[in-house]
Amino acid sequence: MEVLVMKFGGTSVADAERIQRAARRAIKAKQEGKQVVMIVSAMGKTTDHLLSLASEVSDNRPRREMDMLLTTGEQVSISLMAMAIHAAGHEAISLTGGQIGLITDAVHMKARIQKINEDRIRQELDSGKIVIVAGFQGIDESGEITTLGRGASDTTAVAIAAVLGAKCCEIYTDVEGIYTTDPRIVPEAKKIEQISYDEMLDMASLGAGVMHSRAIEFGKKYNVDIHVRSSFTDTQGTWITQESKQMENIVVTGVTLKKEMAQFVLEGVPNQSGIAAKIFSEVAKAKIIVDDIIQTFDDAGHANCSFTVDHSELAECKLVVEILRKKLSIRKVVCQENVAKVSVVGIGMRSHTGVAHTMFTALAKAEVNINAITTSEIKISCIIDPDHGQKAVQAVHAAFELEK
Ligand code: ADP
Ligand code: ASP
Ligand code: MG
Repeated sequence: MEVLVMKFGGTSVADAERIQRAARRAIKAKQEGKQVVMIVSAMGKTTDHLLSLASEVSDNRPRREMDMLLTTGEQVSISLMAMAIHAAGHEAISLTGGQIGLITDAVHMKARIQKINEDRIRQELDSGKIVIVAGFQGIDESGEITTLGRGASDTTAVAIAAVLGAKCCEIYTDVEGIYTTDPRIVPEAKKIEQISYDEMLDMASLGAGVMHSRAIEFGKKYNVDIHVRSSFTDTQGTWITQESKQMENIVVTGVTLKKEMAQFVLEGVPNQSGIAAKIFSEVAKAKIIVDDIIQTFDDAGHANCSFTVDHSELAECKLVVEILRKKLSIRKVVCQENVAKVSVVGIGMRSHTGVAHTMFTALAKAEVNINAITTSEIKISCIIDPDHGQKAVQAVHAAFELEK
């Protein structure tokens, strides 16, 4: 029997009526002869509310307790979903990450999935139930509850689709698919019919919050097609799939904006072999996820090394950098607490020229100053002032005529 994995995000289960609507979709798929697994997020803005409640009671929140708190959001929505399905006359069971044996490492609030035991899900599916799994959570080897990072219910869904050998994972959300940029920034943005894993992986890690980037990694690795679509309509959404020849004809597929980033600049680092290794081994030991790294050197035998991190890593990273400054006799450390990154992504860049020129000209015309540039084969990113983020995206999106 075909297994279908359907993931419903926060807005898609924000109230009782939406939970019932999602329940009806799952029941319909079951009636069409599929075995259905639903992955459900916390209702509406529940996770945000829990985070702000925690900051009201403490300035120094133990990450273990944060995970205890945050996982309650999904436990509410899965149990309500199961009740809605029962009320409609069908069998269903809700299960937490721990109950399905979703095992992660022990890094609270940004744990990574290590394995998923499919037995419990299979057993429930085989007994005819719709299985409802809590998104974004698991347990570590010692049984401690963990979460996988904001937005990671997508990752739970695609990982479960992979272990169950499902060909497709449906992601139901509040937009009709993946757009050429965030439609909240550019209302004329166009829905993309099909996008490759690599492009979507870059778009997600460069700020397109519509999908969690690790979900795309799972999709690519285990060849699960991901269908991102609206929970409010029946229209086709966007398919995230293997690359196809015709995708290369499109030069730029999407534009993204990543905010809430900080940039550390380490000036006057001794320009010796092994220094970069020392810096980034300390950063890695603290489990800090580093974004772009740029290193340059000057005539006086010194190097300047800069890197960006997410705001959530800022406090921890400041401590690590201060230790490094003393240990490695770094002349000066500058931390820019607020930077943003605008990027263009497209596999067509491999075979087309002039993308950088078009992007930089658009930013210049919009009077957006570029503080740093990084590139890969399929993307160009510019670090800019966050106050210019919106107009930068609008200018670049228009320059590549992505609305057409
Ligand atoms: P969910 O709660 O369903 O997981 P998210 O809020 O995580 O939903 O993701 C959907 C939102 O992502 C949309 O409302 C949209 O504003 C935003 N978004 C950002 N970039 C894009 C993009 N390129 N295409 C579509 N949506 C995007
Ligand atoms: N509820 C979690 C969050 O808001 C996980 C998710 O929705 O994907 O980040
Ligand atoms: Mg999401």
